[in-house]
Amino acid sequence: MSDTIKVMKTVFVILDGLGDRPIKEFKGKTPLEAAKKPSLNSLATKGITGMMYPLGVGINAASDTAQLTIFGYDIEKEYFGRGPIECLGINMELKENDICFRANLATIHDNKTILDRRAGRINSTKEFVEEFDGLEIDGAKFLVKPATGYRACIVLRGNGFCERVSSNDPKKDGQFALEIKPLDNSLDAKKTAAVLNKFIELTNQKLNQNKKNIELRKQNKPQANYFLLRGAGKNHSLPTFFEKFGLKAACIAGAGLYKGIGRTMGMKVIEVEGATGLADTNIKAKINACIQALKEFDFVFLHIKATDSFGEDGNYLKKKEFIEKFDKELAPLLKQEILIVVTGDHSTPCSLKTHSGDAVPFLMHANGIRTDNAKEFGEQACMHGGLGFFCGKDVMNIVTTTLGIQKKRGE
Ligand code: ZN
Repeated sequence: MSDTIKVMKTVFVILDGLGDRPIKEFKGKTPLEAAKKPSLNSLATKGITGMMYPLGVGINAASDTAQLTIFGYDIEKEYFGRGPIECLGINMELKENDICFRANLATIHDNKTILDRRAGRINSTKEFVEEFDGLEIDGAKFLVKPATGYRACIVLRGNGFCERVSSNDPKKDGQFALEIKPLDNSLDAKKTAAVLNKFIELTNQKLNQNKKNIELRKQNKPQANYFLLRGAGKNHSLPTFFEKFGLKAACIAGAGLYKGIGRTMGMKVIEVEGATGLADTNIKAKINACIQALKEFDFVFLHIKATDSFGEDGNYLKKKEFIEKFDKELAPLLKQEILIVVTGDHSTPCSLKTHSGDAVPFLMHANGIRTDNAKEFGEQACMHGGLGFFCGKDVMNIVTTTLGIQKKRGE
């Protein structure tokens, strides 16, 4: 029996929105193909590659549903909306059945027209939302916490409330704010919609009196005087990643959503100084944190966001440069005796400036695993890779089988 494959530790890198399409200015190469990336190419050469459809063939995936699927969760049964993930992302202490929302602070005119959905992109909502944390209305307790920039997270706690309510966000400036409506005829849904509409009305009145808003009004700047709520979801605890796979797991990410995804799976979220979730993120510090985490954890999920942001901006040059920067910082990880996986959670082609259902390049390397003919990490090379085309739900099967820890099915 070969002893080349031991139960080794795993680093699983998601470069958000990595997949792309050919760019004319790169002579038909994608940003990943055009990038100078000796580390990734060496992993592809020594390891095995393929193409992954995160949610299924051709399906256009959001980050949260895609990542949960890749890590072995069945989103039909185990996804409860974006609200709980966002709330966990900012480390709110949630209870079972809490109704969770993500929110923006917006600027609203007295006639209820939304003038700016992001309230002039204020950097923090702290001084606006603080006074509402703990507010009680008709048996509902509201927990309200600031999140990144103009965002906040809101939890509704109490008996007889549910997540089956609409959003009040018209999704476009210049439109009237919507009324929150029950999405079915249940008493719970009606009661929830009613209390949320009261919350929005009351907080709007109070925000108009907020000191900071009075100042902004004087300066003729957009006020942060209205909550737009969306992503309603009821919090339920899920089986942890450890319970599913027996692997003690950590998550290293900059942006709140991805920390929330980690916490949803019961991973330990490791805070890294300088990890911003933006293009200026400290990749070196994140890679170092990964190496440190390997001492304590079996599985480290490393999330890098900026590839997706540049895709959404259509900035193929910056996307390519960012991949090059990541590749440089990756080098110390190559010296570890680990299983390393590098992939994306979906494609974000620069030509579309949004997510697409195109398959995502996938590479995996560990000593002793099968190899293929790929000599570089890129869309075309991975299309001919040894893992072929597969789906996100297959990923943890591939990983656990490679680690040699998957239970045999049948006799
Ligand atoms: Zn994503």
